[in-house]
Amino acid sequence: MVRLGRLLRGYQVDLPLSSQGDALVVELDRLGRVYGANDRAIEFWHWESLTDDQEGVHLYELFPGVDSVCLLDALEQSFGGISCRFEVSLPGDTVRILSLCFEPLREQRDVYRASLVVVLDVTESRVIHAVQNQVTHVLSGATDAFVVTDSEGVIEQVNGAYFRMTGYSADEVIGKNLFRLHASLSRPDVYKSVWRGIRQNQGWTGEISNRRKNGESYPEHFHLRVIYAPSGRCCHFVALMADQSDSQGMESTTWKKANYDWVTGLPNRQLFLERLNQEIKKHRRIGHPLALILLDLDQFKEVNDTLGHMKGDVLLEEAARRILHGVRETDTVARLGGDEFAVILPECLLLQVQHLAHKLSEILAQPYDLGDGDRCFISASMGIALYPDNAQDLHTLVKHADQAMYSAKAEGRNRFHYFLPAMQQEAQNKMKLTNDLRLACQRGELQVFYQPILDLSSGRLKKVEALLRWDHPQRGSVGPQVFIPLAEASGLIHDIGNWVSFQVITHILRWKKRFGQIVQVSVNRSPIQFDQGDALWLECLKENGLPGNCITVEITEGMLLKKSERIQQTFLDYRNQGVEVSIDDFGTGFSALSYLKQFDIDYLKIDRSFISEIMADESDKALTEAIIVMAHKLGIKTIAEGVETREQHDMLRRFGCDYAQGFWYAKPVSLFDFEQMLEQTQSPDGVFIFILGGDNARKD
Ligand code: C2E
Ligand code: MG
Ligand code: MG
Repeated sequence: MVRLGRLLRGYQVDLPLSSQGDALVVELDRLGRVYGANDRAIEFWHWESLTDDQEGVHLYELFPGVDSVCLLDALEQSFGGISCRFEVSLPGDTVRILSLCFEPLREQRDVYRASLVVVLDVTESRVIHAVQNQVTHVLSGATDAFVVTDSEGVIEQVNGAYFRMTGYSADEVIGKNLFRLHASLSRPDVYKSVWRGIRQNQGWTGEISNRRKNGESYPEHFHLRVIYAPSGRCCHFVALMADQSDSQGMESTTWKKANYDWVTGLPNRQLFLERLNQEIKKHRRIGHPLALILLDLDQFKEVNDTLGHMKGDVLLEEAARRILHGVRETDTVARLGGDEFAVILPECLLLQVQHLAHKLSEILAQPYDLGDGDRCFISASMGIALYPDNAQDLHTLVKHADQAMYSAKAEGRNRFHYFLPAMQQEAQNKMKLTNDLRLACQRGELQVFYQPILDLSSGRLKKVEALLRWDHPQRGSVGPQVFIPLAEASGLIHDIGNWVSFQVITHILRWKKRFGQIVQVSVNRSPIQFDQGDALWLECLKENGLPGNCITVEITEGMLLKKSERIQQTFLDYRNQGVEVSIDDFGTGFSALSYLKQFDIDYLKIDRSFISEIMADESDKALTEAIIVMAHKLGIKTIAEGVETREQHDMLRRFGCDYAQGFWYAKPVSLFDFEQMLEQTQSPDGVFIFILGGDNARKD
């Protein structure tokens, strides 16, 4: 018998991949006699004793019980240059299924000297396949959801109940990893326990929380079993899942569902209020103080928006774990919803509360590993209110802790504030001011001011920003920084925003008539306004024959992170009508540069905080230059905000910034003053040319 390695030398043959490793390979002559074999075949057929010159064994002797006509037919075909592949069963105590592949062995063009037969034992995979088909058949009609994965957890099959339960379609789950798709399974403690179960051949059963495609989370009974191949190796996982939110029969589950949060396992708002109520009653009786901390994770929304709900859940679970770890055993930690947590501290002195708040700040600020290499940092804002000092009843205590938390957020986040009576005063002031704002529109107390935006290379006035002013009858001038947040919180922003848009359109028409020019106006648009459409003012532009690009809508970076259909549609409407889009205060938010590419952004307005430090701070200077370069690479123009000096102006020109706005050119002025400015700066050919640092810059 000739070893194959020697024999194959000098022949041209395309050996199939499967001929490596486990395959048996034999070489046949035209009459079907074996005269070459690989080590595996020699071993399999016990040919060790045969010598080179001994006459070859015949093809049909290799596969006893297999139809020899079929074998000879394949041999003939391969000598005609045609490969041939089929499966045969070898009868015996245990039936073996073999895959045979007859490959022509070419010596030169159209001359075939031999046929190479590659034999693979496929019994195991065929058995598994048959079992799998049976399992699929049985489970396809099951009411519980099931998933079959490979040995790595990659999903191969799911049944209809799984689609109904999760809301996903086959395309969205087949090929994904089960352990990542069910985010709770990747929680370190669960993950460890699951794999321990797998290693011990026991599989795993437990309650986890899962999330449907629509973002809703639900409790799930999860049961994982390992399927072994006849060789004993793990070849598949089968997971059975039941949605526990519907299991009305289980009293304890229903109670749990009503009182606990499924993502973190903490008491929910309902149970929190119940416990707080009990604690207040108890503390009233014993005459001891009680503290309440409301805690809100800063920038959690951005994590959710950029990395998805599943990663958001992992973060919440970890944050919950850290808070629990940081408090005393007697304290109650609850998740009130979203990224808001509460801690009830019974019999707690001020010093202890302070110590605990510091500790929580520290442990929550540690980095979070969210899996797949995603790592993030967040902080927390906390509000503290004390019983009985700050409030005597449940609802006032919660309200005051909430006010303290908002005050911590407003002051720059990552801190804790105690409730102070002044906060209550402030809350009342805000309420009063909101009521006044309601009337301000009708009473004509609001005005649109205009601040020029100059083309840096030519010094021409090309654009102007519309900025709201409120002349309050008692308080005098109230800044937009004060009243816009109130308008947003109360919903008044919709009416006010529409009013600004119509004012602006009226003014553009007025200037067109008076100066023969269209001046482009930038209008600030609050994120809240995106809840309602822009149809009204877009229509008004059309009716008056104005081009869409006479308006630029200014939005903040955060808007780009929102993936709602309405926002996408609004961007599309703008694009269709030629309305331009500008990102305001760029660099101060969650500057996710990748989002700029996805949206049609026309301008970036570099925030005033960079420009004001551009001469003194090297990193602000470098950042400003980098933003300009990057924006230009993406085909976006740049506008520098808050230019106050000639030096800043010169540097921005050197950096190639396209436009600038700031007190050095002109402050925001009333309609009357702005029209005077236009008149003074209009050159004989109609354009508005600014004398830099000249008179036109000081109108106010
Ligand atoms: P913004 O859109 O970033 O507007 C620029 C702000 O910077 C304006 O403040 C402007 O007066 C100020 N500013 C411009 N140049 C300079 C400068 O050289 N130095 C300094 N220190 N400040 C400069 P303003 O008018 O108080 O407006 C504040 C914010 O209120 C605006 O910021 C905008 O976000 C919001 N806002 C104003 N009007 C509206 C509106 O009609 N709708 C909405 N939704 N928001 C508005
Ligand atoms: Mg703006
Ligand atoms: Mg701005």
